[in-house]
Amino acid sequence: MKLARILFPLPLPEPFDYAIPDGLDVQPGSYVRAPLGKIERTGVVWEVKERSEDDTRELKPVLDVFPVPPMTEAMRKFVSFAARYNVAHPGHVLAMVLRARGGLTPSPTQTLYVPTGHRSNRMTDARIKVLEAAREAGPTNAAELARQAGVSPGVVKGLVEVGSLDAREVETDLPYPQPTNFGRGEHLTGEQQEAGETLRAAIAKGGFQPFLLDGITGSGKTEVYFEAIAEALSKAGDAQVLVLLPEIALTQAVLKRFEARFGAPPAPWHSGLSDAERRRTWRETAHGRARIVIGARSALFLPFRNLKLIIVDEEHDTSFKQEDGVTYHARDMGVMRAKLEDAAIILASATPALETVVNAEQGRYQRLKLSARPGAAKLPDIELVDLRNDPPEKGHWLSSRLTHALTETFEAGEQSLLFLNRRGYAPLVICKACGERLKSPATESWLTEHRYTNRLVCHLTGWSMPKPAACPMCGAKDSLMGVGPGVERVAEEVRQLLPRARVEIFSSDTAQTGEDTRGIVERMAAGEIDVLVGTQIVAKGHNFPNLTLVGIVDADSSMKGGDLRAGERTFQLLSQVAGRAGRAERPGRALVQTYATENPAMIALAEGDRDGFLQIERDVRAELGLPPFGRMAALILSAPSAEMIEEAGRLTGAAAPNGEGITVYGPAPAPIGILRGRHRIRFLVTSTREIDLSAYMAAWLKGLKLPTAVRVSADIDPYSF
Ligand code: ADP
Repeated sequence: MKLARILFPLPLPEPFDYAIPDGLDVQPGSYVRAPLGKIERTGVVWEVKERSEDDTRELKPVLDVFPVPPMTEAMRKFVSFAARYNVAHPGHVLAMVLRARGGLTPSPTQTLYVPTGHRSNRMTDARIKVLEAAREAGPTNAAELARQAGVSPGVVKGLVEVGSLDAREVETDLPYPQPTNFGRGEHLTGEQQEAGETLRAAIAKGGFQPFLLDGITGSGKTEVYFEAIAEALSKAGDAQVLVLLPEIALTQAVLKRFEARFGAPPAPWHSGLSDAERRRTWRETAHGRARIVIGARSALFLPFRNLKLIIVDEEHDTSFKQEDGVTYHARDMGVMRAKLEDAAIILASATPALETVVNAEQGRYQRLKLSARPGAAKLPDIELVDLRNDPPEKGHWLSSRLTHALTETFEAGEQSLLFLNRRGYAPLVICKACGERLKSPATESWLTEHRYTNRLVCHLTGWSMPKPAACPMCGAKDSLMGVGPGVERVAEEVRQLLPRARVEIFSSDTAQTGEDTRGIVERMAAGEIDVLVGTQIVAKGHNFPNLTLVGIVDADSSMKGGDLRAGERTFQLLSQVAGRAGRAERPGRALVQTYATENPAMIALAEGDRDGFLQIERDVRAELGLPPFGRMAALILSAPSAEMIEEAGRLTGAAAPNGEGITVYGPAPAPIGILRGRHRIRFLVTSTREIDLSAYMAAWLKGLKLPTAVRVSADIDPYSF
């Protein structure tokens, strides 16, 4: 007798045992339904094992197996690994895998109607109209045909009875068309070709191989990893490829580029998909019919059948770090998944993370370099504008250097991009009468003024209110004043400077949908915008050939994060934004406004000395034993009241196990001190590299006895703290 150990997508400590009824084909990895308590639930068979003679337990039976190929052993191992590493329940990780579990059932079918060519002599006006519509439209469902003909759906059925229409059952979700073009890319430059051939050779050989594709912005990294994809797909008829991109880089233009290269659109996975689209991608991936899947970080948890290659584009991007629920870093987990799948992985970036660079230097990753832009395109000249010497006028944010450059560029008929990573009009609203700073009720963070909507908005939670006419504290009329710049205010300043220029804002407020984003990108590419003022949304993936000037309005703002990667992130973000200029024939330039001209990040940026910058970063982190030279983790606690969190902090601190080479700091207020009415504190833990910090955190959590109103979770390698 065999039994099945089933893992459920719930925070349970381990899989549960079930009996396997005769005639039910239950395999390791089968997706099944089984009773849990009084409810039937979907789970995955983690293991099938022989039942021992003396096992007399009364086991409940597996009820049903879904018609989907079983989850592979590599995937099951990956789920277990991700849970252990990130100090989460395996069931919680499985829940991420099963997020589109509707994909477990076959696609629903619908009936489509096509004309048979048979002419019945029982024709009416209504029937003739429907037949005309059916000839025009191709296979169409009854409701749509009736709508087009302006008759009732019953008429369609009547035409089937007389033999003039044929009814066909088809699946609503058709499989994705298969890619067909695996040939070599055309017109590759010498260094692109060399990198491409190295990747092709490695993939032809097979096995786990991590690469860092280190190429300046616009050097054609995409063209190079296309070679790797083509090789992986041409090898075996069922090989699959996963491409991970930061969510906001997943534009229609990117999907089109894949389609143009491989002859079929990739399967998409991102937050903008409908439930039906999500189910379809899940189903096609699980069945192995989706050959190229392109998605945001959570696509890493899709159940591939035969994953041969993973690409993490813009691998330095912090949006690969998931901070809610199960915390994980998709790049780091991607490397582990590639290892378990025995697959290749390519991390691509113009500004790779220090961790990745160190891994390459220490020989764990093979580095491929692209040092030039193809053709006439050059990297832009970058110039620092010292705001101490060239301060903007009061209430303005652009230096005279930058306003001159904007004017010149506009008069030359070229485009400019101004970057400021602040949405809205002003990041802070104060009352001139009483000095009150308006705060969000839930988080205590400052409210941002938005002029277009005339609302005050909390950017952490999205909470907002109409801008009041009087101060809510002292009641003074017309006393509220926005302080500091946001993109709306900078756009206003540009409109005053260049009244004839077409100025647009590109932020998550003006580009709420993929449609909006496409619109802005297309208008920019078509030359219908002269000056684009944008947040970090502009940094990624767009090619604007006529863009020759980039202005960084406030280079210092992102330095103030206070976490260990603030300098690195600033360098990456500013390099990426500056890299938008001069991507075609015309040379580009970037002006960087800063008060910190002596800051190493700024100097390195101006000199284009990325490696020099990384060297300074590396020295600081090595000296302090910070990642990647040491390990770091956080423990975040939240509770409904200040007293309760204080007590929980005391208990938690006292319960921290002793460990050699481990230092615990805290408790301290978390970066977001109050969130949705809950008070939050955190501990930071550092250790040397050899220590298994995940095991330490798990042991700490296990030993904790806290009131149920207190929530606690671990974050390995925290990004915001
Ligand atoms: P990256 O990903 O490194 O920023 P892309 O692959 O997006 O660069 O390439 C930047 C631009 O250069 C794209 O418009 C691409 O089509 C073009 N490009 C890339 N390689 C070549 C080449 N060998 N010849 C001409 N154009 C190229």
